[in-house]
Amino acid sequence: MNTLEIRDLTVALTATPDQPIVKGLSLTIKTGEVHAIMGPNGTGKSTLSKAIAGHPDYEITGGDVLIDGTSILEMEPDERARAGIFLAFQYPAEVPGVSIANFLRAAEQARLGEGENINAPQFYKKLYGKMDELKIDRKFTSRSVNDGFSGGEKKRCEILQMAMLEPLFALMDETDSGLDIDALKIVAEGVNRQRSANLGVLMITHYQRLLGYIVPDFVHVMYDGRIVKSGDKNLAIELDEKGYDWVKSELAEAA
Ligand code: ADP
Ligand code: MG
Ligand code: MG
Repeated sequence: MNTLEIRDLTVALTATPDQPIVKGLSLTIKTGEVHAIMGPNGTGKSTLSKAIAGHPDYEITGGDVLIDGTSILEMEPDERARAGIFLAFQYPAEVPGVSIANFLRAAEQARLGEGENINAPQFYKKLYGKMDELKIDRKFTSRSVNDGFSGGEKKRCEILQMAMLEPLFALMDETDSGLDIDALKIVAEGVNRQRSANLGVLMITHYQRLLGYIVPDFVHVMYDGRIVKSGDKNLAIELDEKGYDWVKSELAEAA
């Protein structure tokens, strides 16, 4: 079992380090567990996931993020990926002219580092095995990355990338715009097929609907840069019924 520990984390924009967006957030995710963070728009959910992945626009101004007790904060984004972090759903860039197969091969090579060369037959064997598992058509990998992809195809590409990289921890940010129902089902099926004792998942979502397809073990409510409430899958259902104002008024009462 592996552990991702987010310890009293504060995050700001690199440009304005004195204005925290994430304000002291703590959460521990173990492999085998699926956690969901829900919260109103603007509460810092995407900032949290991007900061953990090492996005340069965000600065971690306090606290720590550790994998199995080792801080990842001094690592570059690619080193964090090698340490087992995968960030999905961040408006993937279009890379016309690069086939999905070559893109995934480059990602695999980047993970291996400079000391080791990719073994092409082994790579394709693994790729086709993963595609079969995920029920992805072979023709798909000759397409260019995201060039003219539908929302669902982008998600399929990300899910395949995740399957190939075999991360310890997948951070999945649904984003506020949300996914159409087909894309949502592709993501859910892909995640559910990869769900195992060797993978920890952090689903970040504004709406409850994704959690109807991927049933989380733990649900956390994020509000104003912190986790203010945690529970099981029923908390997501309660939130969907009562809305975030319910959490706000509970917080106001407690204050
Ligand atoms: P959520 O994902 O919960 O909707 P975000 O993390 O996207 O929240 O944003 C939290 C707050 O930080 C918002 O007020 C947002 O405007 C601000 N913010 C986040 N990223 C940026 C950015 N790159 N530039 C400017 N403001 C940002
Ligand atoms: Mg937002
Ligand atoms: Mg967001």
